[in-house]
Amino acid sequence: MKRLATIALAGLSAAALLSFTPPDDKKPKKIKYIDPANMDLSVKPGQNFYRYANGAWLKKNPVPASKTRWGSFDELREESSRRLRTLLEDAAKRSSEPAMQKVGDFYASGMDTAYIQQQRANPIRADLQRIDALTSPADFLNELAWERTQGMGGALFGFSVSQDRKKVDQYIPNISQGGISLPDRDYYLKNDARSTTVRNAFRQHVMRMFVLTGIGAREADRMADAVLRIETALAKSQMARVEMRDPYKTYNKYAVKDLTTLTPGIDWNQMLGKLKMTGVDSLIVSNPNFLRTVDILLTALPLEDWKTYLKWNVLNSTATYLSKDFEQESFSMRSVLTGQKEMTPRWQFISGVVDSQLGDQLGQMYVSRYFKPEAKQRMLDLVNNLQETFSNRIKGLTWMSEETKVRALEKLNAFTKKIAYPDKWKDYSSITISRTDLLGNVRRAAQWRYNEMIARFGRPVDRTEWGMTPPTINAYYSPVNNEIAFPAGILQFPFFDFGADDAVNYGGIGAVIGHEITHGFDDSGRQYAASGNLSDWWTKADADLFKQRADQVVAQYNGFTVLDTLHVNGRLTLGENLADLGGLNIAYEAFTKTKQFRDGKKINGFTPQQRFFLSWAQVWRSNSTDEALAQQILTDPHSPGEHRANGPIVNMDAWYAAFNVQPSDPMYKAPDARIRIW
Ligand SMILES: [Zn+2]
Repeated sequence: MKRLATIALAGLSAAALLSFTPPDDKKPKKIKYIDPANMDLSVKPGQNFYRYANGAWLKKNPVPASKTRWGSFDELREESSRRLRTLLEDAAKRSSEPAMQKVGDFYASGMDTAYIQQQRANPIRADLQRIDALTSPADFLNELAWERTQGMGGALFGFSVSQDRKKVDQYIPNISQGGISLPDRDYYLKNDARSTTVRNAFRQHVMRMFVLTGIGAREADRMADAVLRIETALAKSQMARVEMRDPYKTYNKYAVKDLTTLTPGIDWNQMLGKLKMTGVDSLIVSNPNFLRTVDILLTALPLEDWKTYLKWNVLNSTATYLSKDFEQESFSMRSVLTGQKEMTPRWQFISGVVDSQLGDQLGQMYVSRYFKPEAKQRMLDLVNNLQETFSNRIKGLTWMSEETKVRALEKLNAFTKKIAYPDKWKDYSSITISRTDLLGNVRRAAQWRYNEMIARFGRPVDRTEWGMTPPTINAYYSPVNNEIAFPAGILQFPFFDFGADDAVNYGGIGAVIGHEITHGFDDSGRQYAASGNLSDWWTKADADLFKQRADQVVAQYNGFTVLDTLHVNGRLTLGENLADLGGLNIAYEAFTKTKQFRDGKKINGFTPQQRFFLSWAQVWRSNSTDEALAQQILTDPHSPGEHRANGPIVNMDAWYAAFNVQPSDPMYKAPDARIRIW
């Protein structure tokens, strides 16, 4: 994630696009907002509400071979990425205007597979040779820094320039832990069957990748060992994801010279210079122990191993842009990790690449073609409505003192709201895009973003920036900006639709808005003040009462078993689960003020209250491969869909009333056991 501290609605990162009724869809589809044909009426609501609401849909919609999961988010992504394809194919015709031509040429460079095939490993030859020629640890560090400035990705550790959490009107450089290829440190450190399978497959994969560059099998085998040795050592010194959620633990400010004292083998003054940063006096280190380990390893391990490690990073970050054999080898590892059976179609992969590299240009084209501006106002009304409801709920809290309430309301009222797309777009005109150089295009775009990032340093903070592109089907809260953002992509069914009844919209986008607002008050977000600064505004007693309640949520989600022995990690997912619980409560209360709620008329046999909860549950319907689910449990702060659907409702009296859930039902919780926070 490019911003350090944004909290997304969902952990699915692939890009895709939005819209309401697009001009190139012949007829608007007649949507059945709550469709009994998707439900399983043989399951009682109080038995498993998620299955009751989605059972038939789940049976009818297995994970497609080229996906790792399939649910409401993925359906939207699929449809949107088809529209994106149309847009890109149009732009790729040589008649378009310059800005459009740029995304068109980028797309064309990715689709010219005959040329890519013919090039084989040529696009990275120079990189591998340059690394071969390094003769000292200092050379190695210089190469590391230089690659970063060239948009070649970041080996060994993370580097960014972002807002200082304790002084949010200033930017500061950040060094974070990193350096491993697998999605979590556990893959290197644990000896259960899943971890060992992945680790062994990884070792083989690294070896085969080196073989593809023309290296002999024995030598490649030795190189794979070196990579695994370095990455395992780095993994050992990484903090666990749960620890990384603590904004104080990961805030370690160092004067540049003191950081050099911490890691004598790395002269940070020099390193920052190589990273093209000037005038830096201090920086934030997320995990000092990790950097100490890097420093020790730099001298303890032979230079030859470090060169191998760097070459591996080049290979690993570029394989999907090279010829078929590299692409296939990269996919084989992905397949082990996620259970994906077939490769993502080329057009879809390249569309995603263009969106992630030139997102503002593509987003601009997309919005002008597919987005209905009226939706922006309607959305703003909804957000304001939810914010007001939350405000009243804070005033009515029985567990919080008046003193803390004043601060909470101050924070809530200071929220910045971003809807659909940015007011100003990034200008990519200085990036050279070639019609035949896919990897070069990716690197030049990444280099442009790197330069944009470091140019921030010393300048006033730009609060108009977005952390997601407009087509993204997701939403986020940024604690340092105290802002919520809803890209155009999420403003469509099943989250939101102009034609839907309020129950459907409040159970969908209403709960999403509530979720993002509540992030400002979850276990992490609550530690940031109205200004965005990390600073404690709670009385000790109120903070303790909050923690007691949050611990109940941890225990509730720890109790969800997902796959054989794997259960949800209640600590890792706490922020998201708190946001779901708060968000759904706020959305429900806002819904009670609507005419539909007051009138109480049934639609297709369901009361407004029932439709609200059914809408919520259908947002989270999703099938996953076992591998993707196992990885999600380990790495994703979001609980799996079934538990996002079922987790909050058992704490809401309104759900029991809506479906007449009784003590004999498996999901039943006694009223005094229901968790009430926001
Ligand atoms: Zn979230």
